[in-house]
Amino acid sequence: MRIGLPRALLYYNYRPALEYLARENATEIIVSSATNKLKLEQGLALCDDEVCLPVKVMMGHVQSLLQEDVDALFVPRIISLEKKRYICPKFLGLPDMVRANLGAKVPLISPVINVSWSKLRQLREGIKSLRPLPRQPLKLWGALGRAARVQELHRRQLAAALDLPSPGKRVAVLGHAYNIFDEYLNFGILNKLSALGAAPVTVENFSRGQINQGASGLCKDLFWSYGREVVGAAFYCLNFKAVDGVILVASFGCGPDSLITEIIGRRFSNSSIPLMSIILDEHSSGIGLATRVEAFVDMLNWRDMA
Ligand code: SF4
Repeated sequence: MRIGLPRALLYYNYRPALEYLARENATEIIVSSATNKLKLEQGLALCDDEVCLPVKVMMGHVQSLLQEDVDALFVPRIISLEKKRYICPKFLGLPDMVRANLGAKVPLISPVINVSWSKLRQLREGIKSLRPLPRQPLKLWGALGRAARVQELHRRQLAAALDLPSPGKRVAVLGHAYNIFDEYLNFGILNKLSALGAAPVTVENFSRGQINQGASGLCKDLFWSYGREVVGAAFYCLNFKAVDGVILVASFGCGPDSLITEIIGRRFSNSSIPLMSIILDEHSSGIGLATRVEAFVDMLNWRDMA
C-alpha cells in the first residue's frame, strides 16, 4: 500500500519521526517532492483567498500526491499536542478541507491527535483512524512510539547548538517550521544567511527549558503551542543576549502570527537586539527578501565598528 505524505505544514516539525516510519514500516510512504511553482499554483487554485499561504501550499502537495497514484493520504486532524495548549484551528479542519477540495478520490488516514484526551481514548481513536492500513494497528502503534523517541532525540541534539561557539553573527530566524524550512516559500533564507557569513539558528535550536524560560516573561500564557515556542525563543534571545539579531518570519493571513509578531515587536522596541519581520505571501519577491537580509547582516556587522 502506498501512503502519500504531503511535504508541508507539520511535516517539517516531525520530519525525523516520519522518516523513521518511512524506513521501518513495510508500508510504502511517498513523501511529495519539495514545494515548487506548480504546487503553489495548484494550491492557490484550490483555496479561497483568505486561507493562509502554508495551507495553500499543503493543498498543492496533496494534489501532486494524487498524481503519484497513492492508495491513501496521511492528513492528521491535530487539536492539541500539549496539555492545555492547542494549535491553530486550521489543523483541526485540515482533513475536511482536503476532502472538500479534492473529493473522495483516495481514503484519508486522519488520526485525531488530542493530548487532552485520556491515553485510552487516544489509543482507541488512533487505531480507528489507521483502519485503511493493511497491517496490525497495534504493531503500527508500537512503531509510532519508537518514532516519537527518535523525534525527541533529534530535538535534544539540535537544542545543543546554542551552546556552541558561533562562526559569525548569530541570527535567530523564528517562525513556524513550515515557513523556515520550506526553501521555496522563504527563498532559502537560512542558506542566504550562511552565505553572508552569519550563523542562523531556529526555534528547534532552543531547548524546552529555554523556551519556557523565555515564555515565562509573558504577562498571560499563550495557548497556541507553536506561537508560544516562537515567543519563548524570542524572549530568551532578548533576556540572555543569546543572538546578535532576530528575523521573524510570518505568513500573510495567519491570525496567530499577527498576534505574536505584535507581542515580540513591542518587547523588542528599544532593545539592543535588532529585529526584522518578514511576511511571506504568494507575491513575495526573492530579490526583495535577499536585499533585506543582506542589509540586516550588514547592519549587524557595522554595529561592531561604530
Ligand atoms: S498557524 Fe497561521 S500559518 Fe499556520 S496554519 Fe494556522 S493560520 Fe496558517
